[in-house]
Amino acid sequence: MSRGAPSGAVSDTPVMVVGGGPAGAVTGLLLARRGWEVELVDRARFPRSKACGECLNPGGVALLAELGLMESVLATSPAVMDGWDLALPGKGSWRPPARGRFRGGDRALGVCRATFDAALLEEARAAGVRIREGVRVVKARPGSADEPAAVELVLPGGDRRWRTARVLVGADGLNSRIRSEVGLAGAATDPPKASLTWRIQGAGPSRHQGRLLLGPGSTVGLAPVSGPEATHWNATLVVVEEADRADLLRQGWSMMSAALQGIPGGWRREPRVVAGPWGSGRFRRPTEAAWTGRTLLVGDAAGYFDPLTGQGIYRALLSARLAADTIDRGLTGDTRRNSDVEALAPYGALVFSSLRTGRWLQRAVEGVVSRSPLRRLCLSGLRHLPRATSWLIHLTGDRAGSLLREPEPVWPLHPSRTIHEDHR
Ligand SMILES: Cc1cc2nc3c(=O)[nH]c(=O)nc-3n(C[C@H](O)[C@H](O)[C@H](O)COP(=O)(O)OP(=O)(O)OC[C@H]3O[C@@H](n4cnc5c(N)ncnc54)[C@H](O)[C@@H]3O)c2cc1C
Repeated sequence: MSRGAPSGAVSDTPVMVVGGGPAGAVTGLLLARRGWEVELVDRARFPRSKACGECLNPGGVALLAELGLMESVLATSPAVMDGWDLALPGKGSWRPPARGRFRGGDRALGVCRATFDAALLEEARAAGVRIREGVRVVKARPGSADEPAAVELVLPGGDRRWRTARVLVGADGLNSRIRSEVGLAGAATDPPKASLTWRIQGAGPSRHQGRLLLGPGSTVGLAPVSGPEATHWNATLVVVEEADRADLLRQGWSMMSAALQGIPGGWRREPRVVAGPWGSGRFRRPTEAAWTGRTLLVGDAAGYFDPLTGQGIYRALLSARLAADTIDRGLTGDTRRNSDVEALAPYGALVFSSLRTGRWLQRAVEGVVSRSPLRRLCLSGLRHLPRATSWLIHLTGDRAGSLLREPEPVWPLHPSRTIHEDHR
């Protein structure tokens, strides 16, 4: 046996997906729909919480609709958003915001990640994916033309087992174990960032817009989300991690509540924390490539570096679709195992080029926001240019193709019982 190959109890599966977030659930689901036998493991038990701004952008909404998954997402009662307001601090309060609205009737959804992710995983289960929760991967081998890929699993009781697979899909998020185990982790160069997310309850501001409050050294995102009442919000604080994490934890909520005071639109009822905080970081997790041997990386595992423009779930879904297409189109009957590696190889370039525009946009926005004079100049300009603000917000929604379409709402803002409304 070659170095590092699994020994002991080994069993085999055609496709092994590690991670049951949106990327893993949708990769598994699409393959199962096409007749593949898929096993998916996740260390968590669902529903599980996830540090996130919880805004599914219009590109993500469109992809889920194409895949026939909107019914189960709407059953989680998401909030419907038509755009984002961008505000800068003024003297003791926030300045009037620049208002950006998605074009062509596109909508974003404020989703609760616990129920949203669980709904997608249930769809995967219904399609035939074998899902094992509470199972952690600790080691992985990428596989080659001659050898299958392999993962070492820690089962809920603590026993360890190796499992080999014809194809391994790493969908295990920002700090992907699969990525580092198969040698695809790159070196981070940007300043590290960290975040804290709370679920807050409060009434007042319109629930049809998210808000980005762009302070010096920190950004606050506020988005309406589904919940037991239509007064729930996601409040996420992102800071450049200059101080240590303990300081951030100590000061986090006071920074957040200071930001929420005087928010444009105001509160009728003071916001209060009902869950959290959930922490996350560092965001810049570069990836050398999204493919090696018999292993494909999808979602955050394939490279994600900043939550600022809220494109992560869209990217997770898009890479999942590309991975499922590559596997299904490229791999034929078991007899051609040695051509598998060749068939999987194009995925790396495919995923890189499909996500390139979004990545440039994200970097450009980040470049402006992180430089105080430039941030002030741009935001002040945008306040007087609502059309330009809307184009910018629309582009971050990953719907460049629908930019010139005539407005034709996908969902009205005063919708059916499945969608939360503010109770003004
Ligand atoms: C602060 C913040 C705000 C964000 N805001 C937004 C936003 O508003 N909109 C947006 O679209 N995106 C946002 N994102 C990004 C978004 O959350 C991610 O891009 C998205 O969750 C990626 O999905 P995924 O399936 O790749 O990974 P995840 O959703 O992270 O799922 C990975 C899964 O892998 C499992 N796992 C991890 N390690 C192992 C292991 N060793 N063994 C077994 N299982 C394992 C985990 O339990 C988890 O369930 C934000 C991110 C952050 C941090």
